[in-house]
Amino acid sequence: MHGTISVLRQARGPWEFLEFPLPDPEPGAILVRVSYANVCGSDLHGWRGDWVLPEGGRAMGHEMAGRVAALGAGVATDSTGQSLKEGDRIIYNYFFPCGRCVACLRGTPECCPNKRRPGNGQPREFPHFVAGFSEYYYLLPGHVCVKVPDDLSDAIVAPINCALAQVIQALDSGGFRQGDSLVVQGAGGLGLNMIAAARDMGAGLIVAIDGIPGRLKLARDFGADYTVDLRECPTPADRVARVRELTNGQGATHAADVAGVRGVVAEGIEMLANGGTYLEIGSIVPGYTFDFDPDAACRRGLRFIGFMQYDTRVLPRALDFVQRSRSRVPWDRVISHTFPLAAIQDAFEQAEWVGRDPAEAVITRAAVTP
Ligand SMILES: [Zn+2]
Ligand SMILES: [Zn+2]
Repeated sequence: MHGTISVLRQARGPWEFLEFPLPDPEPGAILVRVSYANVCGSDLHGWRGDWVLPEGGRAMGHEMAGRVAALGAGVATDSTGQSLKEGDRIIYNYFFPCGRCVACLRGTPECCPNKRRPGNGQPREFPHFVAGFSEYYYLLPGHVCVKVPDDLSDAIVAPINCALAQVIQALDSGGFRQGDSLVVQGAGGLGLNMIAAARDMGAGLIVAIDGIPGRLKLARDFGADYTVDLRECPTPADRVARVRELTNGQGATHAADVAGVRGVVAEGIEMLANGGTYLEIGSIVPGYTFDFDPDAACRRGLRFIGFMQYDTRVLPRALDFVQRSRSRVPWDRVISHTFPLAAIQDAFEQAEWVGRDPAEAVITRAAVTP
């Protein structure tokens, strides 16, 4: 048996499709038949050419769900103790903290600098199926996986292992508590998940900022109390003033960069109350520097927290949250368009939002269904 994996050979495509024999999972591993892989904001950075492509191209896609195709020896249950067999749907992590560095030993594996990927992310190396835009994914030993209940669709659960787990980690790391207030800078995949998670954790006030009408509507439906429309508040000063107005002049206890565009961080810091915390989980392209006077951090008592991904122990809790909240959070409305693997180029072209007229950017999020 063979399977297909797609590889981006140059910025903005086209994609190359590679075929490899299916690997036998080693003890502790799982071979997953990928059923749904979202085009995440970070995938779009890769597609735009914001990072140098490795020789031979880049295999991408990480926000995904799939079915067990083959279990390695010793894997009989998921991470919560439910029995696992071929055909069961699961969610799982796509990166593997090393477990032996300073960050891992301090209990902050989300900060591990040595996170591994299967085959180092190189599809030409064993086990070949190293990313989500692929028919299969090789889940390394040491993973966390959770069986998905039948009543939750792939579209609902696929964002859990990237967007949702990461924002839950951010709120945890930032000490977000009942009654706290949050400014979400960007109502894309991360932002919408963060709104829902913060609401569930007892947020007193949530303000979402975006410029795409469909996203602003979704932000309110996901639980934002107020939205700030970039078209109505075109300057950073306008938006900072609006947040101050909504918080009795105090500012928010937390603000988060979930947009990853130049300029948002300095603006978000200005929206913080004294003692506030800035959560940086959106900027994954180098060079978005900004001026900051450390005197402000002393006088205003500010904290700044940044990291990528999450402690994989968050995953069962994240799935549980989605199931508990499904009657009040429209999880199934995040993905608006799906594409077969062969049409992955269309998926990326239509998902691109940078440089698009906000009024015409109808796609909120695309997914590939390999
Ligand atoms: Zn992602
Ligand atoms: Zn580590």
